[in-house]
Amino acid sequence: MKVRIGVNGFGTIGKRVADAIARQPDMELVGVAKTRPGFEARRAIERGYPLYVSGAGTPEKFAAAGTKVAGRFAELLGQVDVVVDATPEDIGRENKALYEKAGVRAVFQGGEEADVAEASFNALANYDAGRGKRFLRVVSCNTTGIARAAAVLVPRWGVSRWDVTLVRRATDPGESKKGPVDGIVPTLEMPSHHGPDVRTIYPELPIATAAVVVPTTLMHVHVNHVRLTRPPADTAELVRAFAATPRFQLFRAGDGVDGTPQVMEFARDRAGVGSRLSGDMPENVLWERGVRLDGADAYFFQAIHQESIVVPENVDAVRAMFDLAKDRDASIALTDRTLGIARS
Ligand code: NAD
Repeated sequence: MKVRIGVNGFGTIGKRVADAIARQPDMELVGVAKTRPGFEARRAIERGYPLYVSGAGTPEKFAAAGTKVAGRFAELLGQVDVVVDATPEDIGRENKALYEKAGVRAVFQGGEEADVAEASFNALANYDAGRGKRFLRVVSCNTTGIARAAAVLVPRWGVSRWDVTLVRRATDPGESKKGPVDGIVPTLEMPSHHGPDVRTIYPELPIATAAVVVPTTLMHVHVNHVRLTRPPADTAELVRAFAATPRFQLFRAGDGVDGTPQVMEFARDRAGVGSRLSGDMPENVLWERGVRLDGADAYFFQAIHQESIVVPENVDAVRAMFDLAKDRDASIALTDRTLGIARS
């Protein structure tokens, strides 16, 4: 029996999650829901995803735009076991009552506060916390990136102090209403919300985060300084640990990848190669030359593709909720094989 899934909110995250679910052998994408017609609504239909009208939208508005819908969201709710809610920040919480009333489970995104769900989720870090849950929240892009790195560092060497400076992209490439288009904007809230968010997964982690927003759309970059409790012998051991972990992509000297422009060019080049889903980069990106151990102090940079990093996590969240896989590694392996996600 496949788990039947609806995706509510078909924007940056929702459309990618829908494509990923459509490839899973143990899941069925029953339909997707949107409030407004437009090119993304047409894209759903082109891909054969039944399209439903959600929120304040009306079938008439879709019809006027020449887009035929399969029905209203309530009808989709009647056919699914779980909804992946990828609506904008705070709307997921409003939708929760609908899911409760319909008796369906839900996976929320990182734009919602943690208490919307029974647990916050990251596959590498706390897969088992998702098992059997009715409501889960996949943490945001930056928190996902940090949680994955923590899943490498914490169990092996322990962390006694972790400082992260997040250099955040201003907005997504498809968005034209946000900025800055020039200048650097510090997030004056200290620590930034990312550190506390990581602690929804690692409650004891001594992490402090600070953020600035810069005029780029491609990716975020994290500058990390971690004091390890029982440090490894050398930098090479640190690099090997990252490279041996799923969902990490390490670039080496000679790859010609100096920064995020080349990372995303590399990603676009791989679209359609093997089972690689698209020109996205759902892995944590590290530069081998940008990893260094100095005594107990580890330093590394990592780049995070905000539009796609949470996509495999949503797939694993569903698998954990319905206990579809033997364990964390089996779920990650299946997701990554179907989406063409490599380890270095
Ligand atoms: P988005 O604006 O790109 O897409 C949201 C979609 O939901 C749009 O299609 C919109 O029309 C639709 N929508 C709006 N109101 C709705 C309603 N009431 N019911 C159903 N659909 C509705 O947003 P996004 O960037 O995909 O973000 C979705 C969630 O994912 C947020 O919680 C966000 O914080 C989180 N997230 C975003 C990113 C990112 O970088 N874009 C990364 C990680 C997590």
